[in-house]
Amino acid sequence: MTVLEAIQKSADFLAKKGVESARLQAELLLAHQLGQPRMKLYLNFDRVLTADETDGLRELVKRRGNREPLQHITGSTSFQGHEIGVSRHALVPRPETELLAELGCEFLRATQAPTPTALDFGTGTGCIAITLAAKCPGASITALDLSPDALALARQNALKNLVAERIQFCLGDGFCALKSAAAINVSPRQFDLIISNPPYIASAEIETLEPEVKDFDPRAALDGGPDGLGFYRRLAAEAPEFLRPGGKIMVEFGDGQADAIKTIFENGKWIVESIQEDYSQRARILIASR
Ligand code: GLN
Repeated sequence: MTVLEAIQKSADFLAKKGVESARLQAELLLAHQLGQPRMKLYLNFDRVLTADETDGLRELVKRRGNREPLQHITGSTSFQGHEIGVSRHALVPRPETELLAELGCEFLRATQAPTPTALDFGTGTGCIAITLAAKCPGASITALDLSPDALALARQNALKNLVAERIQFCLGDGFCALKSAAAINVSPRQFDLIISNPPYIASAEIETLEPEVKDFDPRAALDGGPDGLGFYRRLAAEAPEFLRPGGKIMVEFGDGQADAIKTIFENGKWIVESIQEDYSQRARILIASR
């Protein structure tokens, strides 16, 4: 079988399994199997695959056909130019979140503080914390998560991206992670920026999501409680104690949640400064201060 035939056959199979962008996915899986960039496939359409390569590809395509996310199969994804390892223990980083991380960086760079501080609330793979650490070399970053497995993955990702010594990792449920005995040496206790992409799907809605999400992202990374807004209520109520004067909170949220979240923060005496749209013009990020 040639490269081109393998792509076509895999793409047909994936399309039948309901996978979106089946051709692109087939190309990415073959590129992964061959250990080369996808574009290189185009220069070698007529190359005949070895038996091992064909067997390897068949396995990968079978997994993707079972709707396992591409990123779980390849083991990583790119986030703001950083390679971030992914696993079943943390949410696969999404492109929308790159924008949140970027806004966080811009704010940290603009603060007057000699060592700006940021807290990534619910760090998952660590994608936001790692971006902040890498792009704001003067800043001190704290990342917390409820899941020890996610935190281990985040630490590994930070090591791989050479920013591990700039991030403090705290295990625990929300701000409690900063108050726990294990976090006693964590400084600072207050932050210029509190940034979060919390779980925001209403519990009952999770079953309606694509298999890639509902069957492979950890439930704890998706589930925002009965109405999906539980974490925003917690953040609005608990974050003020951890915010430095002049600090800001930046949170990502889901489609259609903008008004509800704005109300939650305003009721909590926050000043909502702006609501930013994502690449598809959907309201996505709320920025607020005290
Ligand atoms: N902060 C991580 C991310 O944005 C994890 C988010 C989550 O688990 N809800 O990818």
